[in-house]
Amino acid sequence: MSEKFYSRSELIDLISHYKSFRKTFAEKAREIQKENFADGIFIRGLIEVSSFCRCSCYYCGIRKDNFCAERYRLSDNEILERCKYGYKKGFRTFIFQGGEDLVFSDIRIANLISEIKKRFSDCAVTLSLGERDEKTYRLWKEAGADRYLLRHEAADPKLFSILHPAEQKLETRLHALETLKKLGYQTGSGFMVGAPYQTIENIADDILFLQNLKPEMIGIGPFIPHNKTPFANYQNDFEKRTDENSTNENSSEEITSCTLTSSLDRAELTCFLISLLRIIFPHALIPATTALNTLSKTGRTDGILSGANVIMPNLSPLETRTKYDLYEGKSNRALECAEELERLENEMNKIGYKILFNERGDFKNK
Ligand code: SAM
Repeated sequence: MSEKFYSRSELIDLISHYKSFRKTFAEKAREIQKENFADGIFIRGLIEVSSFCRCSCYYCGIRKDNFCAERYRLSDNEILERCKYGYKKGFRTFIFQGGEDLVFSDIRIANLISEIKKRFSDCAVTLSLGERDEKTYRLWKEAGADRYLLRHEAADPKLFSILHPAEQKLETRLHALETLKKLGYQTGSGFMVGAPYQTIENIADDILFLQNLKPEMIGIGPFIPHNKTPFANYQNDFEKRTDENSTNENSSEEITSCTLTSSLDRAELTCFLISLLRIIFPHALIPATTALNTLSKTGRTDGILSGANVIMPNLSPLETRTKYDLYEGKSNRALECAEELERLENEMNKIGYKILFNERGDFKNK
């Protein structure tokens, strides 16, 4: 199945009328997913290494300027212990994710990667540690890192600047993504769905950006407010605006930029966009994210049935899981956790899929 790229106007039309396209796109996405991955779902063990962050993204609960955030950082031993535990459970990819915490120095991360590669030679290491320079990304690649996740967050410079303080630049982020690709990482990017002030045109531009970048992994999830961020009340403000704006004419299937942000719409639209991305990128690794499962009880299965093929159970130590507090109510539900793999497996079996234990699930875009 070859890739199908869309024009900006096609994307705007599809997103505006997604409710009418949702079912047929999900069917098509499942078909493509089955063709390329049969019924297999990859698992990745997510280790949240640090809640310290030098950045202050306006939407994020662990932003530097949230003085109420509980901060922690794992020791190398704790990280290695979690990998050992995950390996026994059948994980063959470990993702290190964290705030941009320079205490995790270039060399410390490089040593950690080498050690993991030495102890678990059939495993892949994925990093999600934010923006660093080329020298650092190269060092980590040489130490054995396989993949890097760095969401572009917003391809539109105006929206990017609404979501981030002035010192965080879209150019830097895009340059980092280019560098990661150049160095041979399997690269992941993505964005939040229903981010504050995001419009349908912005989402179309995000997808155009991805069509151009051709990442191996694509992570999208609904925006969920956090009460200690500048966007704490964004949803409330929005709901008020929607009430004021709602008229009978507005009850058609067409959505507007405004209606994007109600929580139900954000989960549904995320699922539609997963289907659309699966159709555009038949081979990509697309997770059913924790944020989707936080917003909707059936988020994970809905995501898989929309074309996602990756689940990232939490392998962090139990004591730190609640401290990696990106948004309100971040799901720590049992099946989110690496301890509950059997139940997660049953959940996947029930909808006709199976978890691929002991598989790295690599994919490299040419
Ligand atoms: N520091 C690394 C980085 O920036 O790539 C990784 C950690 S960062 C917290 C991981 C992702 O969480 C971000 O890319 C962002 O899209 C998502 N995120 C942060 N706050 C969120 C929120 N309020 N709702 C949904 N997703 C959020």
